[in-house]
Amino acid sequence: MVLDDLGSSLRGTLDKLRGKSRISEEDIEEIVKEIQRSLLSADVDVSLVMELSDNIKERALEEEPPAGTPARDFVLRIVYEELVGLIGDSTELPLEEQTILLAGLQGSGKTTSSAKMAWWFSTKGLRPAVIQTDTFRPGAYQQAKEMCERAEVDFYGNPDNDDPVEIARNGLEETSDADVHIVDTAGRHALEDDLIDEIEDIEGVVQPDTSLLVLDAAIGQGAKDQAQQFDESIGIDGVVITKIDGTAKGGGALTAVDQTDSSIAFLGTGEEVQDIERFEPDGFISRLLGMGDLGQLAERVERAMEQTQVEEDDWDPEDMLQGSFTLHDMQKQMEAMNNMGPLDQVMDMIPGFGGGIKDQLPDDAMDVTQDRMRKFSVIMDSMTEAEKEYPKAIGASQIERIARGSGTSEEDVRELLQQYKMMEKTIKQFQGMGSDKEMQRMMK
Ligand code: GDP
Repeated sequence: MVLDDLGSSLRGTLDKLRGKSRISEEDIEEIVKEIQRSLLSADVDVSLVMELSDNIKERALEEEPPAGTPARDFVLRIVYEELVGLIGDSTELPLEEQTILLAGLQGSGKTTSSAKMAWWFSTKGLRPAVIQTDTFRPGAYQQAKEMCERAEVDFYGNPDNDDPVEIARNGLEETSDADVHIVDTAGRHALEDDLIDEIEDIEGVVQPDTSLLVLDAAIGQGAKDQAQQFDESIGIDGVVITKIDGTAKGGGALTAVDQTDSSIAFLGTGEEVQDIERFEPDGFISRLLGMGDLGQLAERVERAMEQTQVEEDDWDPEDMLQGSFTLHDMQKQMEAMNNMGPLDQVMDMIPGFGGGIKDQLPDDAMDVTQDRMRKFSVIMDSMTEAEKEYPKAIGASQIERIARGSGTSEEDVRELLQQYKMMEKTIKQFQGMGSDKEMQRMMK
């Protein structure tokens, strides 16, 4: 997650302000240092960090907190507002006919993002089409075609043509029934003149409404040059940050946003076609600060519902945090959860459960990967309803029977029971904790 540790380190520092009504200069210095440390280690540009910390310092010392506001709330609010200011609004993408051009270096995640974005638009009731003009990277055509099939969206590419401009032109004609055209382009390992010439030619033919720069979240300071060059050649309106599931950095991408005076459009959160989120600054910062983001959670739940046809009454993630949690629930919910993404990301979105609290859990408490989920689901199909309701009653002989029935090993069954126990314990812990009311009240 981008800037992942900012939330927990900041909350630790802010907690020292608990009970204080006045904030000293030293308090502010300490908080600002913590923010600087986090942002710099996430590769955010030094000048941006300095600007942000100066603003926070100035406001915290000069502004008068409203009567009755605890110092901690007051400072947190300023930090929140300044971070929202730094990151800005999300790139405007109206839900109507449009053409989007993707630019970026090879491996940044363009092809994957083109199919993901098309899928996202299709969930909004539009008819998208992906046009694949990457004739440089072998495999790009096949990869895009397969992903678009999975996303059930229109696709155009031509592996027998090595002229990207012609492909773009033909593609627009061939997919004229679509509302949203997403044009994927070739990348290179580095910024080379022929790459820039090629994308300028494609841009001339496509005449995009929006050009997005695709950046790997792990990119560091190199983002600045890339952003500048692409911006000069085709004009960048927004950034897609990919692979935020794999890094705690992401600062480079923020630098690119600043450099191109643009904004963030989407976040890529995994390798599957549905692993994409529209960027929402408020929710993003809330999650960063461990506030949770129920809006995003609701969207994911809704999406998961549609795919699994689970009745709304059957699955509400907040239910999981209230009543008892049985294996039976786990099975019913597993597919829905699978479609929502990794459980730790889901937890990040529930108010009060993100950041610090999650960090206190054992590493594997939330480690339910899709493969494991699939295996668990097969195992649970071989259990009786009673066993699922009272997993504690499952003994050695049942384990043997379940393993045989599901074609798995006894070790697999034990692993499932172990995972269940860990999840149950975690959820009980959450039930006990509740959410950080103070933070939520303040953000209202
Ligand atoms: P391109 O060369 O810019 O078209 O890049 P690709 O779309 O082929 O992506 C490069 C690699 O990154 C592929 O292995 C993708 O599966 C992977 N990838 C792309 N986006 C994400 C993401 O959001 N998360 C993860 N984990 N992997 C991603």
